[in-house]
Amino acid sequence: KLANETAKADLGRASWKLFHTIMSRFPDQPSPDERTALKSYIHLFVRLYPCGECAEHFRVIVEKFPPQTSSRSAAATWACHVHNEVNKSLGKAVFDCSKIGDFYDCGCAEDEGKEKA
Ligand code: FAD
Repeated sequence: KLANETAKADLGRASWKLFHTIMSRFPDQPSPDERTALKSYIHLFVRLYPCGECAEHFRVIVEKFPPQTSSRSAAATWACHVHNEVNKSLGKAVFDCSKIGDFYDCGCAEDEGKEKA
C-alpha cells in the first residue's frame, strides 16, 4: 500500500513537471496548428494517464475548466489552476500561479527562436 502510494506520488511529480514545462515552452503567439497540438496533448494526457482513478478525477476537472491555448501565459495559468484543483482535492497547499513565470526551466533557453529539431 505504501509502495503504491510512493509510486503514484513519483509518477505525479514527474508528470506535473513535464506538463508544466511543456506549457512554459508553448509559443506566446501560437499558430492554429500549435493550439490544436496542445489541445490534443492535454486530451490524450487525460485519457492515457496511467493512474486510472487520477485520470478520472482529472477528466472531471478538465471538463469543468477547458484547456486554454491562446498563448503561453494562458496555457501556463490554466495548467497551474487545474493542478491546484488536484492539490485542493488531495488536501495539499495551493500554488501561487502568479509565481509560475520561469519556475519551470527546461534548460533549453538557447533554443528560443530556433526551429525545433
Ligand atoms: P505535486 O502535486 O506532484 O507537485 C510537484 C511540484 O509542483 C510541487 O512540489 C510544486 O513545486 C509544484 N506545484 C504544486 N502545485 C502547482 C501548481 N498548481 N502549478 C504549478 N506547479 C505546482 N494523486 C492521488 O493520490 N490521487 C489522485 O487522484 C491524483 N490525481 C492526479 C492527477 C494528475 C493528472 C496528476 C499528474 C497527478 C495526480 N496525483 C494524484 C498525484 C498528485 O497530484 C501528486 O503529484 C503527488 O501526490 C505528489 O505530490 P507533491 O506534494 O510531491 O507535489
